[in-house]
Amino acid sequence: MSFKELKISRPILRAVAEAGYDNPNLVQEKTIPFVLNKRDVIVSAQTGTGKTAAFALPILQSLLDKQDAPKKGKTVKALIVSPTRELAIQIEENFKAYSTYTNLRTTVVFGGTSIEPQKDVLKKGIDILIATPGRLLDLHKQDFVNLDYVETLVLDEADLMLDMGFIDDVKKIERLCTKEKQILLFSATIPYKVEQLANSILNEPERVEV
Ligand code: AMP
Repeated sequence: MSFKELKISRPILRAVAEAGYDNPNLVQEKTIPFVLNKRDVIVSAQTGTGKTAAFALPILQSLLDKQDAPKKGKTVKALIVSPTRELAIQIEENFKAYSTYTNLRTTVVFGGTSIEPQKDVLKKGIDILIATPGRLLDLHKQDFVNLDYVETLVLDEADLMLDMGFIDDVKKIERLCTKEKQILLFSATIPYKVEQLANSILNEPERVEV
């Protein structure tokens, strides 16, 4: 199986080749078709399995596929929620690398640092937003983020997110996005509380285990 066979198109294929990836790995092969088909998905995969590309590549592809459609302004179309700033920054770096040859705009926001520069970037308009929960809610409350047009919500490292006490924030964020969105939940393990969260917000999810 190749990335091309998974319906990843030229501008992204070029960046993926430059990243040194020859072929999709298992988690990518299994997850990418579900994401492109707009399904909700629960993926149990550890960090280091290539799970970031498993959601980043099809999200970018879906956004490219829709670029001829009427523009929904400068609002966020894909939202990735991550428990820590380090993970959030890594995810942003991945999105930036894979979208080098597109005009899609990505940024990252996290707490523990000045909020003003983050507001400035958001004001210019963004397609893909990676965020830690607290700072995201703060920026939303101050009206710098519009989540009305989010098509894909990714909850990354869901088990860690719940261990860190973000359950209420995550649920709040989910409710702030449109009902019609697709949700992708990634977690190293799927303990009962992750299963419960998935049951309460995902719609007939596909499951991928690696
Ligand atoms: P992640 O689990 O997303 O943190 O990815 C772990 C590492 O695997 C990262 O350094 C990626 O750049 C790399 N990687 C992801 N997908 C592939 C692939 N298909 N082929 C080779 N390396 C990959």
